[in-house]
Amino acid sequence: MFDAILLNKNDDGTTDARLTQLDDAQLPADADVSVAVDYSTVNYKDGLAITGKSPVVRKWPMVPGIDGAGTVTASSHPDWKEGDLFILNGWGVGETHMGCLAQRARLKGDWLIPRPPGMSAKTAMAIGTAGYTAMLCALALQEQGVTKDSGDILVTGASGGVGSVAVAILSGWGYRVVASTGKLGEAGYLQSLGAAEVIDRAELSAPGKPLQKERWAGVIDSVGSHTLANATAQIRYGGAVAACGLAQGMDFPASMAPFILRGIRLIGIDSVMAPKAKRLAAWNRLASDLDSAKLAAMTEEIALVDTLPKAHDIVGGKVRGRTVVNVNA
Ligand code: NDP
Repeated sequence: MFDAILLNKNDDGTTDARLTQLDDAQLPADADVSVAVDYSTVNYKDGLAITGKSPVVRKWPMVPGIDGAGTVTASSHPDWKEGDLFILNGWGVGETHMGCLAQRARLKGDWLIPRPPGMSAKTAMAIGTAGYTAMLCALALQEQGVTKDSGDILVTGASGGVGSVAVAILSGWGYRVVASTGKLGEAGYLQSLGAAEVIDRAELSAPGKPLQKERWAGVIDSVGSHTLANATAQIRYGGAVAACGLAQGMDFPASMAPFILRGIRLIGIDSVMAPKAKRLAAWNRLASDLDSAKLAAMTEEIALVDTLPKAHDIVGGKVRGRTVVNVNA
């Protein structure tokens, strides 16, 4: 038996989440690698799954946890053997396949990537899907030719998981980062991660004009809705936005004007089904480039049982930075 968070759907359509004990026999049979999880994490999507606020879970009962890091305990997959250290991000784990907010899991070998040498399970989960997505966004801006000499980079949702890591990565690469936040009390925190300037997200979150003053060479947006629309309306000629999130909303009430008058580009970022080569490239850059002191400063460690209240906090926009879950605490 092992500890796990378990989500159930009730007859009336409501969902509940609880800490319980499961048996190995309850883990998915259609997977070829058994693992001991050391650390998992609470991403925004885990918050949606645990609170039931959005229908991200499509199979019941479900163990949430889209991220995991630990050790392989048994494998019939050719790439994996007992003792190997792995990282798991996405692939529908915690949505359609039992996830990693548990002490054990059974996963597909094709989904796993090796943990970069020297990176602990805790560090890997402090980064988690949020940090790996921040790196995908930063690399996408670079691929679009946005360099540190191009001008200011806007990071929205800056005090959140994706935002905090994005600020740390870009400032570490020498970019001038402007952090947009609804928590102005966290300005000192964002500056300590490398933000050169902190702005109130209210400047971006209301409906705005289709074409506004050119401000940003690039944008990393984890917020969507009017914020993304205003950000695109403020991108300088030829600039780009990497859009990955919807914390404000899924809508995109924007205009074609900046696309056809300023030649800007909107790059969608998906971490869940990203191919392995892209994942490995992002994780290798995270291992080499992300400042470990900044990562530690943005990370809180909690126990498995604490993920239940934390899920409500993250969906309520009350979490700063990253949360790692020690599943054995
Ligand atoms: P967090 O909750 O850690 O961060 C989101 C941040 O967005 C908050 O901290 C807050 O920052 C800001 N925010 C929250 N509510 C609002 C609002 N109503 N209006 C404007 N800003 C708001 O989540 P994550 O960083 O883990 O994820 C961010 C988003 O990215 C989520 O939508 C998530 O689903 C998505 N995501 C997508 C991925 C992909 O593959 N495309 C992968 C990972 C995440 P502040 O207070 O500083 O403004």
